[in-house]
Amino acid sequence: PDLFAPQRVNSRGWDVTDAGDLEGIEAARAPFATAQFTARPMGAAEMPGAAPVTVVNPANPGDTLGQVVPATAQDVQAALAAATVWDAPAAERAAALNRAADLYEENFGEIFAILAREAGKSQLDAVGEVREAVDFLRYYAAQALTLEASARGRITCISPWNFPLAIFTGQIAGALAAGNAVLAKPAEQTPLVAAAATALLHRAGVPLGALHLLPGDGATVGAALTSDPRINGVAFTGSTDTALIIRSAMAAHLDPSAPLIAETGGLNAMIVDSTALPEQAVRDVLASAFQSAGQRCSALRCLYIQEDVSKHFLSMLSGAMDELSLGDPWHLSTDVGPVIDADAAGSIRDHIAKARAEGRIIKELRAPKAGHFVAPTVIRVDGIHDLKQEVFGPVLHVATFRARDLDRVIGAINDTGYGLTFGLHTRIDDRVQHVVDRIRVGNTYVNRNQIGAVVGSQPFGGEGLSGTGPKAGGPHYVRRFADAPAPMSGS
Ligand code: GLU
Repeated sequence: PDLFAPQRVNSRGWDVTDAGDLEGIEAARAPFATAQFTARPMGAAEMPGAAPVTVVNPANPGDTLGQVVPATAQDVQAALAAATVWDAPAAERAAALNRAADLYEENFGEIFAILAREAGKSQLDAVGEVREAVDFLRYYAAQALTLEASARGRITCISPWNFPLAIFTGQIAGALAAGNAVLAKPAEQTPLVAAAATALLHRAGVPLGALHLLPGDGATVGAALTSDPRINGVAFTGSTDTALIIRSAMAAHLDPSAPLIAETGGLNAMIVDSTALPEQAVRDVLASAFQSAGQRCSALRCLYIQEDVSKHFLSMLSGAMDELSLGDPWHLSTDVGPVIDADAAGSIRDHIAKARAEGRIIKELRAPKAGHFVAPTVIRVDGIHDLKQEVFGPVLHVATFRARDLDRVIGAINDTGYGLTFGLHTRIDDRVQHVVDRIRVGNTYVNRNQIGAVVGSQPFGGEGLSGTGPKAGGPHYVRRFADAPAPMSGS
C-alpha cells in the first residue's frame, strides 16, 4: 500500500462550513480572546531590546493585545555574531520542521486568535494561513531530504504583515531546510504572531543559533540585515520599491553570489468574456478582490468584463457584494475585516475619494466606524493603464472591452510591467490557449478565483516588477538557499 500512498499531503486544515470544525475553532480560540502576548528578540544571542511598544487590534482600538520589544542595532549585531548554520543531518532538520508543522496545528487556537486580533484575519483567512504555513514546513522538510547541497550561511528573511504566519514561516523553513542560519525580521505590524511561531519552531528542535527573531523597523533591523557582509542571502516579500532598495544594499555590501528572492507587488487583472458562467465569475471576482480585505499581492485589481454582458454582470456583482459581512474578524461570520493600520486605511480612502470626485464609483458598501475599516468599493476605469500603482485594499477597478479588442487588453496588462496573477473566465477552449500563450504572469487561473495558491501544487511567484523567483512552494525554492550549483564547464 505504501507504493500507492502519496509521499506528502497538504494540511487537512479546518472546514469553516462544518459545524463541528467551527465549534472546535471557537473552543480553541476562547482562552486567547483577551490574552496578552509579547514579542521580543529571540535566539542564541543576548538581546536586551529597546523600550516596549503596544500592539493594538486594527478592528478594535480598545483591544490592546500585547507588547513588542524591538531589537536595537546592538541586538542585531549580537544576533549576527551568534548565528550558526544548522549542520545537523538533513533527516534531523526535516524531522524538526515536521514537528514544527504538528505544533502549529496543535496550537491553532492561539494562532487563530493572534491572527484575528493582530492582523485582522477573518477565520477563513486564518485557516488558510495556518494550512499554508504547515504545508511550507512539510514541503520544504521533504526537499531537505533530497537536496544534496549545503547551506550558504546566514540568510535574512524579511516578511510582510499580510501573511504574517504563512510567508514568515515559508521563508524561514526554506532557508532552514538547506541548513542555513536565519535572521528573521517580521513586519512591524505583526510581531506577535511571528514570536508565537518562532517559539514553536524552537520548541520543535530548531537550534536557537539557527533562528534569530529580530522584531523592529526597516531602518534599524532591515537595513543592517541587508547590508552586513556576513549575510549570504535575503528572502523578502513586500513592495517592489523596498525590493529595489534591498538589492542596491546587497549589491554594495554583500558577496555578489548572495541570492535575493523577492516576492513583490502586482497589478493583477481578470478577463471575463461573454461566455463565462456569470454566477461562477461573480463568486470568483468577489473572492479575488475582497477576501483578506484585498490585502493580498495576488488580489484582483482590474477586472475586464466584455461589454455585451457588463450591465448584467455588474448588477449581479453588486447584489453579491450586499451579502458580504464586514466587521470584527473574531466573529465567525465576518467575510471582510479591517485593513492593517491607519496609514493603509487613509491612503485607500484617499484613492476612493478621488474616484468619487471624478464620478467613477460603481458600488460602495458601508464600513464600520471604529477600527481601520475600508468598505469594499468598485471603481470604473478605462483600462489597467489608469491604475498608477497597486491599491492594497478592498478596491476593485472595472473596465469593459469588446471581443475584437482582446489582444489590446492583453497588451495593456502586460505593459504594466508587473506579472503576478491573472484570471480568465471563458468557456471557449481556443481562447484559453490564446490568452494563456500571451499573458506574462507567474500564476494564471482559469475559471476560478486568483488567490490562495496551494503549496506543492501551485508554486507562487511573479515576473517582471512582481518578483525574482524561484516560486514559493515550488521545487526550486530551497535550492536557491543552498550553495550555488557547480559552474558549467567552460564558464
Ligand atoms: N500566496 C498568496 C496567494 O496566492 C499571496 C501572497 C501575498 O499576498 O504575498 O494568495
